[in-house]
Amino acid sequence: MSSSVVSDSPTQPHVQPLDRSGIGGQPRGLTTLFFAEMWERFSYYGMRALLILFMTAAAAEGGLGFDTKHAAGIYGTYTMSVYLLSILGGFIADNFVGARRAVFVGGIIIASGHFTMALNSTATFYAGLVLVALGTGLLKPNISTMVGSLYSASDERRDAGFSIFYMGINIGAFLAPLVTGYLAQSAGWKSQLAAWGLNPLHSWHWGFAAAGVGMTLGLVVYVRRASTLAHVGHAPALEAGRSRPWGKLGLVALGSFALIAAMKLSDRYPAVVYGLFALQIAAILFFAFRADQDSKRIAAILVFFFAAEIFWAIFEQTGSSISLFADRLTRNEILGWNFPSSYWQSVNSIWVILLAPVFAWLWIKLGHRQPSSPMKFTLGLLFVALSFVLMVPAAKLTAAGKVGPIWLLALFFLQTIGEMLLSPVGLSTMTKLAPPRLLGLVMGIWFLAAALGNKLAGVLAGEFKSDNPAELATFFWHQALGVGVATLVLLALVPWVKKLMCGVR
Ligand code: GLN
Repeated sequence: MSSSVVSDSPTQPHVQPLDRSGIGGQPRGLTTLFFAEMWERFSYYGMRALLILFMTAAAAEGGLGFDTKHAAGIYGTYTMSVYLLSILGGFIADNFVGARRAVFVGGIIIASGHFTMALNSTATFYAGLVLVALGTGLLKPNISTMVGSLYSASDERRDAGFSIFYMGINIGAFLAPLVTGYLAQSAGWKSQLAAWGLNPLHSWHWGFAAAGVGMTLGLVVYVRRASTLAHVGHAPALEAGRSRPWGKLGLVALGSFALIAAMKLSDRYPAVVYGLFALQIAAILFFAFRADQDSKRIAAILVFFFAAEIFWAIFEQTGSSISLFADRLTRNEILGWNFPSSYWQSVNSIWVILLAPVFAWLWIKLGHRQPSSPMKFTLGLLFVALSFVLMVPAAKLTAAGKVGPIWLLALFFLQTIGEMLLSPVGLSTMTKLAPPRLLGLVMGIWFLAAALGNKLAGVLAGEFKSDNPAELATFFWHQALGVGVATLVLLALVPWVKKLMCGVR
């Protein structure tokens, strides 16, 4: 079977290759995955929005009373681990339980994690974080591969389908902080708790519980509509006389935890990061010059991985340097209405919700004339570079005081165009390129790029200066230049990457 065929099992052909009864003329199963993932992301972003606030809030405010540095360290390790554990989750689906069951079990673990955090103790807080990270590792890569499995290799709707799926992600991401933030922080909800005779200091835990309820709703959708996914995500058949690869599972688990430890080490020894870059380049070359098609495609996957890592390193500064720019250097006022700087965190999701249908339409309209995936990636990098070029004059203007909100609106607009060209396209491309038996693992590798990018974003944001406009302009300019160079390199590599993809677009 050609590895470009994305059915998850050679014995499971696509029973409904032209099913158009789901959202936007897509297969019905997409609707199921759209809502299941929307609720999973609701729980993820809903909890994440409270995480650092809860850790740094004093005990008298119901928080854990951690200092900022300690809290930021836990936040960074947690957000990195969530994505890094996707490798383990993908491997388990590929070799043991299949994507369908991995998503189901992952969802249960995530929901129990959030409900664990709904209890008021430090031990349950940490236990909850571990559960959510492990559960997300099981769910996130595998729900993404199931989207890909809805399409045959020649189905041009795939990228459009991933754009729609991505919109679901962002509806969840947008709504969640509004709900959990209200429960955790609003005076109204606290007085409601007091009126019921409950402790208002526990309001945080109501926020965490709401995240758990969100994930539970996702599970309900997933189970009730399971028949729409009957043909995808089954466990691999076990050949007679062979046992499951328990030894390899141990190695992947060990490797994942070692990588988390190495990334923690990079705080003290930044050379670890350069070592990882060198390793990535070596891996690309190693696979590219092997004769077989699967190896060449893995080399292409690794090029995409590298590009995505750079992309997320800029993009994920939304919560750090851009958040500081919003808070200290922007007039947060539109038409006389003043809003808290934290509202900027939702703007990316709003742009995705607005732009995703445009991209879904564009990819359907262009059909086979749409740019190749390496070209879309190149454009994705270009847009994220442009977003930081734009911040150069904005930074200079801060010499005369705070700047208007238009700069950040435009920054998020450019970054979201970049994101739509790279992130859903990346998910889609992984499902096209991965050899079927490695589908989950490859998706895990895709999310590893997000894990490392998040980490790098933290390192880069460490140089942010809000009190020196010239240095701030240089901060943005240097990063824009760096990504600009990466864009040109990727552009030059497009023909080579296309060749490595062996017929996949
Ligand atoms: N925002 C997207 C999501 O939550 C992308 C995350 C990522 O791959 N870094 O799924």
